[in-house]
Amino acid sequence: MTSLSPSAPAIVDETLGGKAFAAGASAYESSRQVWNATIDRYPALVIRCDSVEDVQAAVKHAVSLGAPVSVRGGGHNIAGTAVGDGAVMIDLSAMNKVEVDSVAKCVCVGGGATLAKLDAETQLHGLATPGGVVSSTGVGGLTLGGGIGWLARRHGLSIDNFVSAQVVLADGRLLTASEAENADLFWALRGGGGNFGVVTRFEFRLHPVGPEVCFGPTFFALSDAAEVLTAYAREAEHLTRDACVWANLMTAPPFDAVPVHWHGQKVLTLLQFHAGQQEQAVSDLSPLNGGVTPIGNAFGPRSFVEAQSFLDPAYEFGARNYWRSHNHLTLTPELISTLVDLVPDLPTPESELLICQIGGAVGDVAHDATAFAHRGVRFMSTPGVRWAEPGDDAAMIAWLRNASDRIAEQAVPGAYVNFVAEDGAADSAYASNLARLRRIKGRYDPNNLFRVNQNIEPIGAPDS
Ligand SMILES: Cc1cc2nc3c(=O)[nH]c(=O)nc-3n(C[C@H](O)[C@H](O)[C@H](O)COP(=O)(O)OP(=O)(O)OC[C@H]3O[C@@H](n4cnc5c(N)ncnc54)[C@H](O)[C@@H]3O)c2cc1C
Repeated sequence: MTSLSPSAPAIVDETLGGKAFAAGASAYESSRQVWNATIDRYPALVIRCDSVEDVQAAVKHAVSLGAPVSVRGGGHNIAGTAVGDGAVMIDLSAMNKVEVDSVAKCVCVGGGATLAKLDAETQLHGLATPGGVVSSTGVGGLTLGGGIGWLARRHGLSIDNFVSAQVVLADGRLLTASEAENADLFWALRGGGGNFGVVTRFEFRLHPVGPEVCFGPTFFALSDAAEVLTAYAREAEHLTRDACVWANLMTAPPFDAVPVHWHGQKVLTLLQFHAGQQEQAVSDLSPLNGGVTPIGNAFGPRSFVEAQSFLDPAYEFGARNYWRSHNHLTLTPELISTLVDLVPDLPTPESELLICQIGGAVGDVAHDATAFAHRGVRFMSTPGVRWAEPGDDAAMIAWLRNASDRIAEQAVPGAYVNFVAEDGAADSAYASNLARLRRIKGRYDPNNLFRVNQNIEPIGAPDS
């Protein structure tokens, strides 16, 4: 690891004066801490950038040190890819400007903005672009990996609404990437993660959404879970694209909508989103529970911004986390049975077996139209354990791996790069798109400066 003094980091470029922090500085400490508390890495240097020029200078500085670059957007990545031992971290949190053009229905977003800021600004105009379901997540990492959320079935992934990017490359150059300019780079940025450069600005298409939508959880007894999941699996296929429903096998939270004697019990939750009015939403969504009576219901009209942040309290910064994810074309009876069997043994009350519904507009796009390869997936299961004590790490990870191995027997190949807790997921995430990604990587980052990520190894041949 490159060793630099806390008080005098070896910065020669005056652009970066006062913005570079080495071990010992409080800014260094807060930047190196990311959402997943199991990640405890020590960068060579943290550079908190305020401008494109800062990012260009930081990239050049990393090259001069011979250190790889890591980029911190929202710091949410489960594998902690915002931070690497011995890397130069480019922290983009201050580059979080959101500028809405309500006439052209597009928004420009700084590379370090969070979904909370994006949604708050776009909703001032009754507009939105598809993001994720927890508002503290960074727009940067989420978009570059794909971006799955409540609007995906209606308007596609975040990348399907991504119009252009401003990117600082490994040689310090600033490029625009879009369908019209540097189209190969733009193709790669739509799913290929942070492999190709530092995106300092994203431009997205916007759609009329809300400001009121219908959203909320409906809770079912675990004894009814298999019956409800069977109906969910069948009926979700016919659901309007205005709606998106995720299922979660979990521990009941102390919500007012859940009777007190259910608090702390294992339950099935349907997290239901509908972009329309309540009457229509209830009518569209009611087949999903197969006629089973819920034990609690908090579904109803809410602002879109409230829906987008409803789950935030369950996913606060600083817990220890380990996840895996699996792709499914359908929820088979065997898979449902495996999932339900695992629930009584969930190792902590915060642990869960989450099933995300995909489909709809996500599947309208060809698997090779963007780097995101798995367009035919209808559901993604994401088992996750969350705990507090470092001493429990080995037991928690072992539990999750065992559960994940059982679920994998009922899955199709592939992974979502944003939900992978370990390195080395490029093969399964990019599948038939990997060879093209490697050629584009060879063109834009031949020395693999941007390798603190789910890495795509560069190859030299020019892209055809
Ligand atoms: C609680 C929680 C909820 C989530 N919910 C969803 C969800 O609903 N849908 C979904 O699709 N995903 C979701 N995710 C996964 C999320 O998309 C990924 O963790 C993503 O990597 C987070 O991006 P970030 O910018 O916050 O992370 P960071 O850790 O800062 O960055 C992640 C990766 O992206 C790169 N990166 C980030 N910004 C840039 C940039 N501007 N330029 C170049 N590279 C960049 C980094 O180098 C790093 O490799 C969730 C994650 C968490 C922890």
